[in-house]
Amino acid sequence: MIEPFDDTYFMKKALQEAETAYEKGEIPVGAVIVIDNKVIARGHNLTEMLNDVTAHAEMQAITAAANFLGGKYLQNCTLYVTLEPCQMCAGALYWSQISKIVYGARDLERGCINLNTKLHPKTIIEGGVLAEEASNLMKRFFIERRRLN
Ligand SMILES: [Zn+2]
Repeated sequence: MIEPFDDTYFMKKALQEAETAYEKGEIPVGAVIVIDNKVIARGHNLTEMLNDVTAHAEMQAITAAANFLGGKYLQNCTLYVTLEPCQMCAGALYWSQISKIVYGARDLERGCINLNTKLHPKTIIEGGVLAEEASNLMKRFFIERRRLN
């Protein structure tokens, strides 16, 4: 069976990125940016490796997508990210004018929704795609990290 290019399909790609982050000992958040059903950018959290609090998955993916497109605006692009974006990433996404954001799990404490971070008026946001997979990966990571410390 050929897999359809739907939200689940692309969120699985973002989850693969999150798994890569997990393997590197990074908080497991992953993202991909899609245009015309094609993944043009991938990213995962690299805050430990780069020693940089701004190295969130979304930030990596935004930069990679702009490089791919040869322009800074991400119109007609959709971001798939395993965790609801934080304020910083929502701010960066605002500047990118991205068309759509699809996230997996909610982040009630640090996510942009409860913090009322403004998105670009052209940006649609949807959530809950493979939310359980994304949050299970996070839980597994933090349990393991506590065990190691
Ligand atoms: Zn962020």
